[in-house]
Amino acid sequence: MIRRCERCGSETHLLEKCSFCGKYVCRQCEHAAKRVKKVTRVVICKGCFGDTKKMKEYENWK
Ligand SMILES: [Zn+2]
Ligand SMILES: [Zn+2]
Repeated sequence: MIRRCERCGSETHLLEKCSFCGKYVCRQCEHAAKRVKKVTRVVICKGCFGDTKKMKEYENWK
């Protein structure tokens, strides 16, 4: 199934939901991702990475 990235609009098979703005973004728009508590995957998109407050939240998310 082909879907579209909600950030750049490119078509991709793999979209991940940004944990901060809730948009489905492609790998290019995903800035970083990490796993917390072994089950939750936290994703931050490049749009949210530019936001200092969100970036701090991402770093503090354990
Ligand atoms: Zn994208
Ligand atoms: Zn985002």
